[in-house]
Amino acid sequence: MAKFKIYIAGSVGGGTPTKTRNLPSYLLNDKILLDGGDGFTYQLRKGGKNLSKIETIFISHEHPDHWAGIIGYLQAVGLNKRPQPLKIIGPEEVLNFLTASMKFMENSINLEFIPLKEDGLIYTNKGLTITALKVPHTDNSYGFLIKQEGERKFDGKKAAQLGVKGPMFGELKKNGFVETEQGVVKIDDVSTLEPGTAIFYTGDVGPEVFRDSKLLTNLKSQVDALNLLLVDGTYLKAKDRKNQSHLTLEEAVKLAEELEAINVVLTHISNRYNDNDVEEANVVLRAFADEKGLNMAAVAEDGMTVEI
Ligand SMILES: [Zn+2]
Repeated sequence: MAKFKIYIAGSVGGGTPTKTRNLPSYLLNDKILLDGGDGFTYQLRKGGKNLSKIETIFISHEHPDHWAGIIGYLQAVGLNKRPQPLKIIGPEEVLNFLTASMKFMENSINLEFIPLKEDGLIYTNKGLTITALKVPHTDNSYGFLIKQEGERKFDGKKAAQLGVKGPMFGELKKNGFVETEQGVVKIDDVSTLEPGTAIFYTGDVGPEVFRDSKLLTNLKSQVDALNLLLVDGTYLKAKDRKNQSHLTLEEAVKLAEELEAINVVLTHISNRYNDNDVEEANVVLRAFADEKGLNMAAVAEDGMTVEI
């Protein structure tokens, strides 16, 4: 069963939507929103998503194409009398701006703003963790490493042999060991932990990422394998980048290789590209996936759901 379902609400880069691509925004497991570009509320409605289910919004950096839609969202869910609290985690200046905009809204959302100022663990819930890692783009840009802990599978036969029964399983899970008539039994004696699932969403990222060994080392030290790299692949053609702090298709693929990603989805696609350009890019990506034995490599489309 998929651990993560990512609904692509917007996949354009550069601030101007096209007829088929809206501004960047990704809904994770219906409850977490990664970036909130203008119009994401409409995109989620169009995709049949429940707006009120979102519990936390993460903003990767201060550029408005990644958060301007949050004002409209707050207005929309406020009018619908959203019952549960909402956390917004992002750059302090953006949170201040959102706070100011709340003055003009009639709503009573229980909001919590958490400024994002440095690398570190910023979210924990039932084995799901999110770690912010600084990426080169602006001085305060982050990528998000999202990990779901693997499930623990108990060997019933072994547990019975060692005298583990009933409420002892709860104690084992809580303390990591339990005392039975046969002595102390450790959790690893009677169970195995399945590998977890990990995603890295780069946010906007420049080619300096390859020179930032701290970021890459940090990422590699935290995951055995990356099940999905959702990566800024703004420039499908290398000649188009000029000096912009975004990756080309080749660089996005190189980053996927460095991070040993099993699936790769390019997003934040420049609005200059038409359907033919995207199809050409997908041919290159499919060849890359085949050559490297990846499950999948593709350009994101609005309305697409990636299941991992
Ligand atoms: Zn952007």
